[in-house]
Amino acid sequence: MTQQQTERIDGKAIAAEVLEICRQRCAEFKGRGGPPSLAVVRVGEDPASRVYVRGKLRAAAKVGIQASEHHLEATATQQEVEATVRALAADDAVDGILVQLPLPRHLHEGAILGLVPTDKDVDGFGVESLGALVAGLPGLRACTPAGVMTLLDHAFAARGETLRGKRALVIGRSRIVGKPMALLLLAADATVTIAHSKSADLAAEVGRADVVVAAAGVPHLVRGEWLAPGAVVIDVGIHRRDDGSLCGDVDTDSAEGIAAAITPVPGGVGPMTIATLMRNTVEAAVRRRGESADV
Ligand code: NAD
Repeated sequence: MTQQQTERIDGKAIAAEVLEICRQRCAEFKGRGGPPSLAVVRVGEDPASRVYVRGKLRAAAKVGIQASEHHLEATATQQEVEATVRALAADDAVDGILVQLPLPRHLHEGAILGLVPTDKDVDGFGVESLGALVAGLPGLRACTPAGVMTLLDHAFAARGETLRGKRALVIGRSRIVGKPMALLLLAADATVTIAHSKSADLAAEVGRADVVVAAAGVPHLVRGEWLAPGAVVIDVGIHRRDDGSLCGDVDTDSAEGIAAAITPVPGGVGPMTIATLMRNTVEAAVRRRGESADV
């Protein structure tokens, strides 16, 4: 087996580049109806959601997006949450709406997400946004998978390569990560396999892949020795250990010297997800206000 140094794909640095472009684009909105605006709906007191929303609001403030948080109690009824989203949907001053998931269990997530108009669907979770992706039409793409594409583009560009013809394995088939991820890789001309909890031999699938995107939500599921030498690995998973530290779906230590490049956890996909949300919000504002969508 060829031993090679495994490069860390610096999600923080690449996210900072995306945020800088957003900041410049936001500045161009001055005097033209105000800056792009993002409304975040949070229901209940899920601690992780509170941290994620805080990070999103902080990034928005940094780039000049006008962001607001609409917080409802954990006991809020379906009607109350729907009324909040409906009001934001009808408010012309709002360019993007994000409903922070997960919602408390008594709420019907699909019905609430369904109220976000497609032109404000900055999370890209809506049926029409996903349909546009399937159909190869323009639209707002889900932030985590779109952010992963930016990371992969950087990693392959650094090698003078592209994703075209590469064998890509996506581990996970969720609506918000795995499925859109597979479609974006397909659109980039990769040869895509999707593995999931019922897949027969994950290790063998991993061993065949040039690119592995791990989004199973299982700590250290992917072992380094499963990887093909030279694989590029994106670790979407994020888990808090008992000692408070974070880890991903990939056992990064055992991938050292086998993978060509890997994203760290933290500092890989997480910052890119937030940066992509900002990019989507600027893009939504540009499209809604009838300007060029080239953000
Ligand atoms: P999910 O639970 O909705 O989906 C997990 C998927 O993984 C399912 O499709 C399931 O079939 C598959 N799976 C589960 N166990 C498996 C196994 N043993 N082998 C193969 N496949 C298996 O999760 P999700 O919302 O898609 O998120 C996945 C992970 O990504 C989680 O750890 C989540 O916290 C993380 N995440 C991170 C970010 C970020 O910005 N960094 C964003 C979204 C999700």
